[in-house]
Order: sequence, then structure tokens, then C-alpha cells
Amino acid sequence: MTLDLSWVTTWVDDTVAVVSDNRLRLSELDREIGDGDHGENLDRGFAAVKAKFDALPEGSTPGSALKLVATTLISTVGGASGPLLGTAYLKGAQALGDAAELDADAVVALLTAARDGVVLRGKAEVGDKTMIDAWTPAVDAATAAAASGASPAAVLRAAADAAVEGAASTEPLVARKGRASYLGDRAVGHRDPGAESSSLILIAAAEAAEA
Ligand code: ADP
Ligand code: MG
Ligand code: MG
Repeated sequence: MTLDLSWVTTWVDDTVAVVSDNRLRLSELDREIGDGDHGENLDRGFAAVKAKFDALPEGSTPGSALKLVATTLISTVGGASGPLLGTAYLKGAQALGDAAELDADAVVALLTAARDGVVLRGKAEVGDKTMIDAWTPAVDAATAAAASGASPAAVLRAAADAAVEGAASTEPLVARKGRASYLGDRAVGHRDPGAESSSLILIAAAEAAEA
């Protein structure tokens, strides 16, 4: 089994929906340890992505479609998460080249390049209480799943499950990057909004592959 452009379009549709449904909750998380705009930021960005995908150019590939997500997020999302997630989609897109079909290894390459893009841009490590606390366990789980022969959908499910755990793991942490780092110990006990939204994006990727 492989994934193709229809997986990307379903992933994007599902992400638009889940970000919209969780807009208030994500901004509430950001109100606790940031400036309260994370849900609005992402919802604005993915609404713009949806508009672009309503008129996806003829001959699009998974890579070109993900590049369109990237450029749209970078140009429409204010705040730290726009350039960070935009870079994730951009590097992920580049890792796919012009392939029409993605096998399990291609999915791992996509996720790894996406995570590396966030690190390149934001310099966060695991434990800094950022979206990297969702992305890096997701990449590790995806890599292990693919190595044991999992399908692309199962690789994405392993990534999503690990991202959900990773997002929860940010709660006891002191933040070392982003706005939450200004709070010191006051960030303890609160989940990082960017780790939570990244887990939602990866759940959407798995659901789209299972559809
Ligand atoms: P802003 O903080 O500019 O208002 P958002 O609220 O949209 O932007 O996004 C905040 C999220 O961005 C944080 O919850 C965190 O996950 C992520 N983030 C911030 N700085 C970094 C960084 N240097 N590396 C990785 N992620 C980061
Ligand atoms: Mg914010
Ligand atoms: Mg902001």
C-alpha cells in the first residue's frame, strides 16, 4: 500500500477541520503560557490553505501540494508557529521530490525532514516544551514502525500516538524556547499549545491514511 496526492488533500481537509474545531482550546492553552493566539494563528493559516486547495493546480504532486501548504502558512500565520510549521511542510515537501506515491520509507523521510526543519528554524531540543516534544517522538516511532515493516498508514498511526504522548509530556516542563520561556516555573503544569497542535496535525495525517 502507498499514499498519493489524495492522501495529502484528505490530510489537509482533516487538518483544516480539526484546527477549526480546536481553535478556542489551542488559544486557551496559549493564554496560560503565551499570548493566547495560537488557535487563531493556525485557524487563519489553514483557512487560507483550504482556499488554495480548492483550486489545486493541475498536475500537483504530494510534494508540490505540501509546498503550497508551507508557503501559505508562512505568509498568513503571524507568530512563531507560522514560520516553524511552514518550514516543516517545506522541508517535508522537498524530501518527497516529485514522487507520486509514498511508501513507508517516504513517510518517514517526510516526517524526519519536517522535524529537522523545525529544529533548523527554532533550535529547540526535546524537553524545551515546544512542538518538538511532539515531533521528535513521532519521528522516532515512525522510524521504528517502518523498520519493522509497517504500512504507511501504520507508520503514521505510530507517529500520531507518539505525538499525543509527547504533547502530554510537556505539562511538567519549564519552557526553554518561545514566549513560555519568559515564565520560568509558572509554565509548569501547562501543556505546550504548539506540541498539542502538532499532535492534532499528525492524528489527521494518520486518519487520512486510514480513510
Ligand atoms: P507566538 O508565540 O508568536 O504567539 P504561536 O502562539 O502561534 O506563536 O505558537 C506558539 C508555539 O510555537 C509554542 O507553543 C511552541 O510549541 C512553538 N515554538 C515557539 N518557539 C519555538 C521554537 N524555538 N522551536 C520550536 N517550537 C517553538
Ligand atoms: Mg501565541
Ligand atoms: Mg502571538
